[in-house]
Amino acid sequence: MNHSDSQQKKIVTRIAPSPTGALHIGTARTALFNYLLAKKHKGTFILRFEDTDKERSRDEHKDNIRDALRWLSLKPDQVVHQSNRTSIYAQHIQQLVDADKAYISKESSKKDPSQQVSIVRFRNTNPHITFTDTVRGDITTDISNLGDFVIARSLNDPLYHLAVVIDDMKSGVTHILRGDDHIINTPPQIALIKALGGDLPSYTHIPLIHSASGGKLSKRKGATAVTAFRDRGYAPEAVLNAIALLGWSPKHDNEVFTLKELISEFSLDGVQRKEAIFNEKKLQWFHKQYVRKIPENQLRKEIVPAIVKRFPVRSRLHPKSVKAVLHDTRERGVLFKEARESITAGGIDFLFVSPEYKQELLIPKKVETEKKSISNILEKLKETKRLLEEIGTHTQWNEEFIEKQIAQHAESSGKSITLWPLRVALSGKEKSPGPFFIAGVIGKKQTLKRVEKACTALKGILSRI
Ligand code: GLU
Repeated sequence: MNHSDSQQKKIVTRIAPSPTGALHIGTARTALFNYLLAKKHKGTFILRFEDTDKERSRDEHKDNIRDALRWLSLKPDQVVHQSNRTSIYAQHIQQLVDADKAYISKESSKKDPSQQVSIVRFRNTNPHITFTDTVRGDITTDISNLGDFVIARSLNDPLYHLAVVIDDMKSGVTHILRGDDHIINTPPQIALIKALGGDLPSYTHIPLIHSASGGKLSKRKGATAVTAFRDRGYAPEAVLNAIALLGWSPKHDNEVFTLKELISEFSLDGVQRKEAIFNEKKLQWFHKQYVRKIPENQLRKEIVPAIVKRFPVRSRLHPKSVKAVLHDTRERGVLFKEARESITAGGIDFLFVSPEYKQELLIPKKVETEKKSISNILEKLKETKRLLEEIGTHTQWNEEFIEKQIAQHAESSGKSITLWPLRVALSGKEKSPGPFFIAGVIGKKQTLKRVEKACTALKGILSRI
């Protein structure tokens, strides 16, 4: 089948996770590619739980997989559970046995050799299989080494290959996109499709994802569950964007896409052969791009509840300060969870209430604690205060104007001597946004009050030395 066939036949794709663990980045990427191909051609995207391994399959993993797909907005059109389909499998196994394409073989059980079991083996009579993989081209394999391979544990208990084939045929799957670790499964599955008289789907084996530190990105190594990225505060749009570019590249240089744009841009021609590297730094970059553009009301929903929890008294919730926190989150592109944690830990309290700090913090690091230099700092801060007093409370009080007013004084007196104490006076912190920004946010009255408090503190230090 070539790509132009996609115009003629309704495209059906599927993602077929075994619910034995959380949905990890690799499977999410496969889900995304299948989703994009289906949606681009107005086709159907199926979620199929390969849950026949009763011991390892768990409902909680199914829930996690569905939650993660929902979070990424990859809504399946149908959900299939293999465990509900025993009678369909039984019917097909019987069909193969009746046609002598498979046979029941009485053998001693592998688990308990003293027991006899009746398994079903496939007559592997046409072992030369050729298929076209979208990425790798024609592949020819000889599967005679598999012998008459086992396809079912009993007449109604199919093994992986057979269940996949029956389900894909029954669902009318036209395109199989899956990790290239499945490439060895394709020839025996094709042999089964032919035996059952089905149409061959198009195959695209996607390169596996490696971690930035090298080696396969596996669910056992580190937190690669999609829900773990969600819980750490990444925007789903950022995760989608990052995984879209793992093994696929668009025709143009652009890297930032919405899901809608991905649907229109995606094509199988863009799937690459070389391994994809998952780099969390790149994900952070996508998060930044996303946060910069996030609508104000959505950003508020992520951040404001943490501020309200920190300052339950409404009168403390100065709108300008709230805005400043949102602005800062947006500018720095921090993860929402980190932003919330910083708020909870008091990281932005200084925008709302006058800070408490150790008086000595007012003295810049390089300055010695001696009378002359401390009085110098105090004099400069008093001058700063005087200059600040000159600024009009309403019309002029903003970051740019304040900076302009202080600039010359800071230049001639020495920047660290003037600006460090001012910044500490306003933030109470060793590291914080700049003093003009804070002053602009908290307003003239609050700024002067804090500078006055710092002057008193410096006088206190002077009296002690
Ligand atoms: N259940 C397989 C997996 O989790 C997928 C099978 C397939 O895509 O054919 O990797």
